[in-house]
Amino acid sequence: MSKFIFVTGGVVSSLGKGITAASLGTLLKRAGLRVSILKMDPYLNVDAGTMNPFQHGEVFVTDDGAETDLDLGHYERFIDEPLSNDNSVTAGKIYQEVIRKERAGQYNGGTVQVIPHVTNQIQESLLRVASGNDVVVAEIGGTVGDIEGLPFLEAIRQFASRVGRTNVMYCHVTLIPYISAAGELKTKPTQHSVNELRRIGIQPDIIVCRSQYPLNSDLKDKIALFCSVSTDSIFEAIDADSIYSVPLNLQKQGLDRTVTQRLGLPSAGEIDMSDWHRFLDMRAHPDGEAEIALVGKYTGIKDAYLSVNEAILHASIHNAVKVKLRHIETEEIEKSGAGDVLRGVHGILVPGGFGSRGMEGKISAAGYARENGIPYLGLCLGLHAAIIDFARNVAGLALANSSEMDPGTPNPVVHIMEEQKNIKDLGGTMRLGVYPCKLKEGSLAHGAYARGDILERHRHRYEFNDSYRDRFESLGMNVTGIYEEKNLAEILEISSHAWFVGVQFHPEFLSRPLRPHPLFRDFIAAAKKRASL
Ligand code: GLN
Repeated sequence: MSKFIFVTGGVVSSLGKGITAASLGTLLKRAGLRVSILKMDPYLNVDAGTMNPFQHGEVFVTDDGAETDLDLGHYERFIDEPLSNDNSVTAGKIYQEVIRKERAGQYNGGTVQVIPHVTNQIQESLLRVASGNDVVVAEIGGTVGDIEGLPFLEAIRQFASRVGRTNVMYCHVTLIPYISAAGELKTKPTQHSVNELRRIGIQPDIIVCRSQYPLNSDLKDKIALFCSVSTDSIFEAIDADSIYSVPLNLQKQGLDRTVTQRLGLPSAGEIDMSDWHRFLDMRAHPDGEAEIALVGKYTGIKDAYLSVNEAILHASIHNAVKVKLRHIETEEIEKSGAGDVLRGVHGILVPGGFGSRGMEGKISAAGYARENGIPYLGLCLGLHAAIIDFARNVAGLALANSSEMDPGTPNPVVHIMEEQKNIKDLGGTMRLGVYPCKLKEGSLAHGAYARGDILERHRHRYEFNDSYRDRFESLGMNVTGIYEEKNLAEILEISSHAWFVGVQFHPEFLSRPLRPHPLFRDFIAAAKKRASL
């Protein structure tokens, strides 16, 4: 029988519920258990695919092409297990399935209701993920008390009767604010939040308290008394300087032991986290600095390039270099010119994006990197920018463009594939999820991956127009990675450059703290080298 741990949040959002869930999963996996983890988001979007990064942060893509909430990225990075569409549940997805069943007559004429039909459907999604796993950690998005979260909370309440209360554990993450005028940490919001949870019928087993300062024993006693949990089930999550120290902080307080004991799981004794400790030690002792320009449209939004930021961090720690990120709004380049805005950086990264706004700035950034020998990594739209710059400024194709920017361009260098042109359905038009790619020997990519066949995740509509391939290669921009089945260019590199690589896929999704992505690793190594010149 699988065990289930539900992570809810109270008082405010952005408490680090996702990191708490991921940390718990990490510790349990390290204890030798088979762990899966899922996010249940109460919003009505069917998936995160259509959501604006300004509002929602990045869209994280899984191997099977699900467009998910960015918390799935944290889960994969922490637990180091590939997740799938099943690990991302939204109210929209649940309702879509319930309505599909209703239309198909599967409810035998009954009145279809939130309870039991929607709540049952939510429970089915939990059971689906449980198969083959010892433990499922399920994070409920939003905050207790939100109207749209109610069906999810009701479903997880009922779930305890379905699978047995001893197989279920509720972990509530809450805020203990510090009131500076009083010089005190306050437990009242936590009491209210737990009361709200109890009103719905859920008694938390564990409370994780996010706070700026350590909780003394009086405070823990008070929380224990008011919230009916024992003091050793109250954990503090003090603001950490790195998300990767959170599992270690929770381990120190014995979270893994409390959970395994409570759920009757085999105890692994002291879990070995020495590689995580080493990773954090390396982070604290860099032996060089490099400045990387991140040229995008959403640079003001902290989470819009979350996986890219994490991948840079993993790679920089691995290279023992402290990376200073210069966030550059691409429109700044359009106003002031690439030279002004990018002067002095040791690497330029243009991440993915959609739409034509700001595209000219990205093209100039790629051109600036090309002309000045600055290491360049282009991700998806960043590859397209590099292609258009090369077409215009090296191949002399003055009209070269992407059909996304200018649908009227004849034979654009970056084009939409014939078979995709007439698909109208939103979300149905993209190349999504994992695709195989063959690497050319002797290329930077082949050197980085140290093998010839790779799998990477995609999310895009546009591709390099193969009719330009010979011309590009004769001028020094080579196709070094190919999706053979469709003869699509997946990687382009400039051979005479220090390090210039553009990829059609999103390598950032596969970077892990202890296993930086090879392309990010080598890009940062090249930037470090440039910084030391
Ligand atoms: N907008 C481009 C496309 O659809 C690039 C997408 C991306 O960068 N993920 O192909």
